[in-house]
Amino acid sequence: MKKDDAMEFDALFEAQLSTLRSEGNYRVFAELERYQGAYPKAVRHTDDEQRDVTVWCSNDYLCMGQHPAVLQAMHDTLEKSGAGAGGTRNISGTNHYHVQLERELADLHHKEDALLFTSGYVSNWASLGTLGSRLPNAVILSDALNHASMIEGIRQAKCDKKIWNHNDMEDLRRKLEECAPDATKIIAFESVYSMDGDIAPIKEVCDLADEFGAMTYIDEVHAVGMYGPRGAGVAEREGLMDRITLIEGTLGKAFGVMGGYITGSAALCDFIRSFASGFIFTTALPPAVAAGALASIKHLKESEMERQRQRRQVAKLRTALDKAGIPHIDNPSHIVPVMVKDPVKCKMISDVMLDEYGVYVQPINYPTVPKGTERLRFTPGPMHTDADIEHLVFALGELWKHCALARAVA
Ligand SMILES: *Cc1c(COP(=O)(O)O)cnc(C)c1O
Repeated sequence: MKKDDAMEFDALFEAQLSTLRSEGNYRVFAELERYQGAYPKAVRHTDDEQRDVTVWCSNDYLCMGQHPAVLQAMHDTLEKSGAGAGGTRNISGTNHYHVQLERELADLHHKEDALLFTSGYVSNWASLGTLGSRLPNAVILSDALNHASMIEGIRQAKCDKKIWNHNDMEDLRRKLEECAPDATKIIAFESVYSMDGDIAPIKEVCDLADEFGAMTYIDEVHAVGMYGPRGAGVAEREGLMDRITLIEGTLGKAFGVMGGYITGSAALCDFIRSFASGFIFTTALPPAVAAGALASIKHLKESEMERQRQRRQVAKLRTALDKAGIPHIDNPSHIVPVMVKDPVKCKMISDVMLDEYGVYVQPINYPTVPKGTERLRFTPGPMHTDADIEHLVFALGELWKHCALARAVA
């Protein structure tokens, strides 16, 4: 690469970055240092200082990322097995802990088998891509608000696709009716949608799937660990797991570690295992990570305490917001979206909360959510104290005044 060329390449990069900046969509990451045992407190690093902040937007929903049982399992396995897996699953990388974890996941969802991936993103991308490209006359029917990883998987599949309006059963029916008689139909959707915190009508989707002979593919990423008596998700809570063809989840959110997975019939898992490039051609998860996730799942299968405490704090935050007249989306999940409805104010409130109140919540702007629905997305956990909630709502109240934002009427 010649020096002049290098500058021209950089100019190409900068041109697109400046468009992003002028649209207000340029992303800035907060640099955090989490302290084991101090969750939800963390230290935020900037160029000139370090400051304590309270994290209000973590997906480590239940604080399992710092649970003693998880850490112990990871320490033990690190000592025993070392750092990395040493290979892809195919070539020397399949570790005892991967196999144990897959068994545990199959048991969690009452399925015959499970398959581990390096992340939830990869599990969606690889599984939908493989199903859509390999099955005869495949049509993927995708909810309009599905996650980027599912959208990319569908794109990768290059099969027919139909987007149905979010959670709209009449539209799903119409789209199913449009499919050719010989089509292999795959309905892809999520249980808890993470931006609005609403929950899909899973039973109604399954009823339609049965009527039209379609497969069901559900992403329970924001629900595993959190819902159902053993933390297997919303489908478990509603007694519907056996009606879902493929359940996808993550080990990186409520389970607090890292990795993704699918569960389903033995034939389905064997099919994805055998044909999915994103499963085969990548180094397997470190054994210690698999052992940590295993400990986390086992713990949350038995323990309701984390879920109960978390729900209590979610309810307390909602009540406090209502009292202060701060508008938020009322939904049946653990996600509390506070609506600012203005991208500049949303970013500004988030900045001031962080700099002046030590409250960290990431602003959520377009294209993650539609324009005009910009928001701050709070995820209270079992370790947020009542004082944390009080401080948060006080700070929001001050900023609401300052920005002359509308209050919700009780
Ligand atoms: C975060 C997320 C994923 C990806 O999971 P990771 O394990 O973080 O890669 C998939 N689906 C949804 C809905 C998500 O929010």
